[in-house]
Amino acid sequence: MSNQELTARWQGALMHNYGTPRLPLVRGEGLKVWDAEGREYLDFVGGIATNALGHAHPAVVAAVSTQIASLGHISNFFLAEPTVALAERLLTLFGREGRVFFCNSGAEANEAAFKIGRLTGRTHMVATDGGFHGRTTGALALTGQPAKQDPFRPLPGDVTHVPYGDAQALAAAVTEKTALVIIEPVQGENGVVVPPAGYLKAARAITAATGALLVLDEVQTGIGRTGTWFEYQAHEGVLPDVVTLAKQLGGGLPLGATVAFGRAAELFQPGHHGTTFGGNPVACAAGLAVLDTIAEEGLLENVKRQSERLREGIEGLNHPSIGYVRGAGLLLGIVLTGPLAPQVQQAAQEAGFLVNAPAPDVVRLMPPLNLRDDEAGALIQALPGILDAANGDGRSGE
Ligand code: PMP
Repeated sequence: MSNQELTARWQGALMHNYGTPRLPLVRGEGLKVWDAEGREYLDFVGGIATNALGHAHPAVVAAVSTQIASLGHISNFFLAEPTVALAERLLTLFGREGRVFFCNSGAEANEAAFKIGRLTGRTHMVATDGGFHGRTTGALALTGQPAKQDPFRPLPGDVTHVPYGDAQALAAAVTEKTALVIIEPVQGENGVVVPPAGYLKAARAITAATGALLVLDEVQTGIGRTGTWFEYQAHEGVLPDVVTLAKQLGGGLPLGATVAFGRAAELFQPGHHGTTFGGNPVACAAGLAVLDTIAEEGLLENVKRQSERLREGIEGLNHPSIGYVRGAGLLLGIVLTGPLAPQVQQAAQEAGFLVNAPAPDVVRLMPPLNLRDDEAGALIQALPGILDAANGDGRSGE
């Protein structure tokens, strides 16, 4: 089977979603993946921040195999132990009492947050320009990217968007009628945008003053990606009412969670919400294996160490196409000096590295949390050649 054949079959059978897939992949192990023609790549996109432990991690393989061999999906009218165990474990990591709703994706986790907001009896919601919360209609209404929203208007809700990182604009938009404010601690899809220091704390104070819920979308930043279990834990004085999770929580399996605290945790009543596969024991067993492995292998420390290595290594190249590196932990954006990110993505792939380009001038890295020194080193070493190739003429920069 060739790469071209598989792509042609895709064209014949699948609806368009994100556009033509870049590359058919057939196998993965750790950071490595192989395409249909046997070519090897280092996957610095990590699924899409989903492969917390890389591909085929023995702990996830064992947990999933054992669980599916004993009890697979059951109806939510029954109860499986891994579901309860994962909810308890998450609450331990938050260090707070609360309640968990399990689902299958980030969008679905945010839909549940949207509904929790509505159950406060208020309707207005505040979200941020450039923010991304998913493609289902409620989550899309909260998303702040008009190109993704416009074909589907009218979208649900009474949503005001404010500039990201601007506490004054937030304070002006939030009223006594605001049910919730939803914020990503770092905007991932918008190009790894980090808000000014104190922004989350200000958001907490503003919402507390009017009785609005503070929802933090940690779908991309959560589960250790930024070097703490949840990114907000790196910000003093921030205790959200709701946190949404997905992506690497399932270690490659579809698993999302909406975690609510205080009065927000008590708003769902029997019959309010549900989803067939939510909390299915196989995905939850994978989630437990991910959390166990992060703790046992000290991966939060590794995230901080590799983050420093990558930042210093990449900025230290002093390449004219590189401006600086921003982000948190292993959610990093290489900010280029020009709109070269699509070309860098392509040149990197040709050199055997998978990265992505969420903005014209930003290359994003979000490798597994167990990234090794030699793997980070390989990317740093290859980058100058990749950037030169992306510039197309052997020269670099503007
Ligand atoms: N929220 C954030 C912050 C995300 O980055 C994403 C996915 N990129 C989502 C929500 C939506 O997740 P999903 O694609 O699993 O629905």
